[in-house]
Amino acid sequence: MNKIQIEDREFEILIENDNICKRTRLIGIQINLDYENRCPLFIGVLNGSFMFMGDLLKEITVSCEVAFIQVSSYSGAKSSGKVKEILGLPDDIHNRDIIIVEDIVDTGLTLSHILKELYKQKPASVKVCSLLLKPAALKEPLEELEYVGFELANDFVVGYGLDYNGLGRNLNDIYRTKTVVPSAS
Ligand code: 5GP
Ligand code: MG
Ligand code: MG
Repeated sequence: MNKIQIEDREFEILIENDNICKRTRLIGIQINLDYENRCPLFIGVLNGSFMFMGDLLKEITVSCEVAFIQVSSYSGAKSSGKVKEILGLPDDIHNRDIIIVEDIVDTGLTLSHILKELYKQKPASVKVCSLLLKPAALKEPLEELEYVGFELANDFVVGYGLDYNGLGRNLNDIYRTKTVVPSAS
């Protein structure tokens, strides 16, 4: 399927599942090398990261733990930049090696907020693994951003965990739409 319709909007294919899997495998290999003998704690940011987290973790061979947190800062197809509460933050991350797993880094505001909260507990290290990155949208450099699957233009994307108004998370591939819908909030 090269084109799909979700509600009012038409999307065209951008990254096929095969390519996502190949890239994820390579990231997994790199993480296994970097974290040999270290037992990292992967923290997935819900909801968008659930599919990437599942596929990434299948490639991880080092001993590790997995947790999820949820933040909410996004509505419609434009970043509101407003970060709400962080839910489910583990309270035992002192001296742990943390890998935050994200679906996409856009402005980076969500991540900055998460990082600030994590550092309060003095973890040993924090790195970020994001499937997607929109470099032109990033507000300030994120030195923790160590693993990135694909860099994108400032289009809006759905599929493989990413939603448009709650829909499209189940799609195998990643699709994009050119025009940006005004934010609802
Ligand atoms: P940031 O705080 O980096 O601007 O936004 C991060 C969050 O906004 C992501 O985790 C994701 O939930 C959402 N987001 C940013 N860009 C897109 C996009 O192109 N498509 C979708 N579906 N969500 C996006
Ligand atoms: Mg996300
Ligand atoms: Mg969303």
